Amino acid sequence: MNIIIFGPPGIGKGSVSGLLKDKYRVPHISTGNIFRESSDKRIRHYLEKGLLVPDEDVMRVVEKRLKEKDCQNGFILDGFPRTLEQAGFLEEKGVKISIVLNLLGDTDVIVARLSGRLICPKCGAIYHIRNIKPKKKGICDKCGTELVHRKDDQPDVVRNRIDVYRKQTKVLIEYYRKRNLLVDIQADGQLSDVVNNITAVIEDKV
Ligand code: ADP
Ligand code: ZN
Repeated sequence: MNIIIFGPPGIGKGSVSGLLKDKYRVPHISTGNIFRESSDKRIRHYLEKGLLVPDEDVMRVVEKRLKEKDCQNGFILDGFPRTLEQAGFLEEKGVKISIVLNLLGDTDVIVARLSGRLICPKCGAIYHIRNIKPKKKGICDKCGTELVHRKDDQPDVVRNRIDVYRKQTKVLIEYYRKRNLLVDIQADGQLSDVVNNITAVIEDKV
């Protein structure tokens, strides 16, 4: 089961991937996470500037990761491919993709969701002004620290990140749609519904 997952920032790609990973017993490979953990100065430079890491570096990292033993039964690729060159690379290397999940969501819904999000700066716990309220307003249940909004969860910033995502991903969506691998999944509802829909589609297609 070789899965690629696309979705705008804030749609819940991380949560969905986590559940699919457990269900299908395949690793969740997020190039963003891999690069965030990198101590390579050159890579850090791109991340700090908010620039894409050059294709050669990304491909080297992905190729090495996909050769690891835990990928034998498949994988979930998240954050890769980001460019047509990267998509072409997978094809060249003979990496067969079973399905490309395209998580869809209305921008306003995502913005509302993220702008209500509160995080604990100390332990990382996540809350929501309306959906996941802490027991005591503005205070972390787990460690008693005062909760904060993340700077990049502000409405304007979120809108901009979603715009950039839509522009960058358009060609890749077309690429996989042409190859009949793309499946649109409405993903701005309940997480459990989203995962059930995905499971149904996967079982039907693979
Ligand atoms: P974001 O934080 O923009 O939602 P990610 O967490 O997926 O995105 O990735 C964080 C950073 O890692 C990106 O801004 C980029 O510098 C780098 N990166 C991740 N995946 C790729 C990729 N496939 N190609 C190039 N750069 C990447
Ligand atoms: Zn806390």
